[in-house]
Amino acid sequence: MREVAKLPVLLKDLKLSAMGRLWGSMAEEAEKEAWTHPRFLSALCEHEVEERYQKRTARYRKHSNLPAGKSLATFDFSYVPSVSKAKVQELSANTQWITQGETVLIFGPSGVGKTHLASAIGHGLIERGVRVLFTSTTALMQKLQGARKTLSLPAALDKLDHYGLLILDDIGYVRKDDAETHVLFELIAHRYESKSLIVTSNQPFSEWDQIFATNAMTVAAIDRLVHHATLFEVVTESYRRLHSLEKAQA
Ligand code: ADP
Ligand code: MG
Repeated sequence: MREVAKLPVLLKDLKLSAMGRLWGSMAEEAEKEAWTHPRFLSALCEHEVEERYQKRTARYRKHSNLPAGKSLATFDFSYVPSVSKAKVQELSANTQWITQGETVLIFGPSGVGKTHLASAIGHGLIERGVRVLFTSTTALMQKLQGARKTLSLPAALDKLDHYGLLILDDIGYVRKDDAETHVLFELIAHRYESKSLIVTSNQPFSEWDQIFATNAMTVAAIDRLVHHATLFEVVTESYRRLHSLEKAQA
C-alpha cells in the first residue's frame, strides 16, 4: 500500500503526466475488465506517448511561425496542374529528404500559391516530428546581419540548425545593395547537405544576380540549392486575382 501511495510522486518525478492523471481510473477499468498487468501498463504508456506527441506538435506549430490554415487540406491542386499533388504529399509526409538535408524550390509569379504550398509542406512535417521555421527571407537576413555585426553569426547559424526545415519565403525580395546577401550566402552554404531549406521565389534563377553581391556568389548559391533539390514551377493565373474576380462577379 505504501508503494502505491508513492506512485503519484514517482510519476511526477519521471515527468509522466498523462500516466499520473490516468493511472487511477485506468486501474479501476483494468480490474473490471480483468486486464493482464502488461496490458494495463501498455495502455498507460500509449496514453503518455500520445499526449507527448500532441503537446510537442502544438509547441512546434506555435514556434514555427507558419501561416495558420495554409495546409494541404485547404490547397486546391486543380488550380495548379504544373504541381504534382503526389509529390507535395510525399514531401510533407516523408521525412527522408529532411534527414538528408535536401532542398525544395518553389518558383512562380506573385499570388499563385507558393507561400501556401511551402506552408502546407511545413505543417505536414511538423506532424511527423520535424521542427520547422517559416520566415520571410528579408526579415531573417536582417537578424543575421545584426548577428554578424556583433560577431555572433556562426552562433546564429548554429541555432538555426535546431530546425530540420527552414522556409525562406520570397528570396527574390533580398537586394544586393542591402548588405544582406553575404549572410544569405553564408546561410545557404551552412545548411548545404546538412539541413533542409524550402525557398520560394518570384524571380527565376536568371534574375538572381540582383540578389547576390557578385556573379560568383550567385552561381555558388544556386549550385548548392539545386544540387539535391525538388523544383516546383507554379505556372498559373494569380489565385488571389482569380478569386477576387470571382467574388466581384458573384
Ligand atoms: P504567393 O506566395 O505565390 O504569392 P500565396 O501562397 O500567398 O501566393 O497565395 C495567395 C492567396 O491565395 C493565399 O491566401 C493562398 O492561401 C491562396 N491560394 C493560392 N493558391 C491556392 C490554391 N491552389 N488553393 C487554395 N488557395 C490558394
Ligand atoms: Mg508568397
